[in-house]
Amino acid sequence: MEIPPNMRLVALLGDPVQHSLSPRMHAAAFQACGLRWAYVAFRVRPEDLPEAVAGLRALGFAGANVTIPHKVAVLELLDELDASARRCGAANTLVFRTDGRSAGYNTDVAGMRRALAEAGVEVRGLHAVVLGAGGAARAACAALGEGKARRVVVLGRRRDTAQAVCARMRQEFPTTDFAALGFDPACVRAALQGADLVVNATPVGMHPRGEDSPVAEAAWLRPGQVVFDMVYNPLRTRLLQLARQAGARTVGGLSMLVHQGAEAFELWTGLSAPIDAMKRAVGLVHAEV
Ligand code: NAP
Repeated sequence: MEIPPNMRLVALLGDPVQHSLSPRMHAAAFQACGLRWAYVAFRVRPEDLPEAVAGLRALGFAGANVTIPHKVAVLELLDELDASARRCGAANTLVFRTDGRSAGYNTDVAGMRRALAEAGVEVRGLHAVVLGAGGAARAACAALGEGKARRVVVLGRRRDTAQAVCARMRQEFPTTDFAALGFDPACVRAALQGADLVVNATPVGMHPRGEDSPVAEAAWLRPGQVVFDMVYNPLRTRLLQLARQAGARTVGGLSMLVHQGAEAFELWTGLSAPIDAMKRAVGLVHAEV
């Protein structure tokens, strides 16, 4: 494919990136709006992130998405942060302004909020469990805090990371009770018992390890719960299969992908995002998987 010199470019920086549907989704969005823009995915190791961000700015990229595992580390490389990135302590969208300044946003927060709304989940008063304590978990906590969830339990492999996320979220969202736990099976099982909503914000179960699940057994889940898996490749993750066996409601990660991407598209281009074209490009017909 030819990329002529006057084409505007947007990058995805992550490690891994081969699972990502963002290049396909944004290519469809640019085409639907008649824009001569291209979206390119780059695998960037953590130690190379500063050079990668500086390189995008030097090369005149319009913006970028930042994904696993760079959403927290990227903050200190940016000139400005909007309120969503500041509140989360993580950014997933960068805008390189014409004056040379770089700005960070967190469109995962709105993505998660809209995906929950589309699935008919009322956040107010919920008791939620967030599996993982990285960038996506921070966005999930912020969406749940903004929506006035009653209690959010964050499970991290390193408990101090989960504690740090909770400490920040308590300051930002004082009406929600945030608590941190470790990620061993006993903690996961105990945390799930009282939960109305379970959010997987780890990469466990993602391509090419689709047989893995952050929840070991269907018996740990129950009817009436909503299980939201941010992983969207594969579409029917092992976690969502177990949730179905348990009689829980399931929400896959595609709807969040589209909504976080739509907000990023609007930040880069200043245009309304062609949501239907983006949904079609990733094969999203229903929010529920
Ligand atoms: P991240 O910042 O690297 O955080 C990943 C978190 O998962 C960390 O807490 C990490 O723990 C934990 N983790 C990794 N492997 C684990 C394992 N085997 N067992 C338990 N915990 C594990 O990545 P991220 O940006 O938050 O992304 C997480 C996932 O969400 C990715 O699969 C990403 O594609 C997906 N996501 C989807 C959407 C969407 O729109 N659908 C949006 C955002 C993210 P350590 O800190 O100990 O490594």
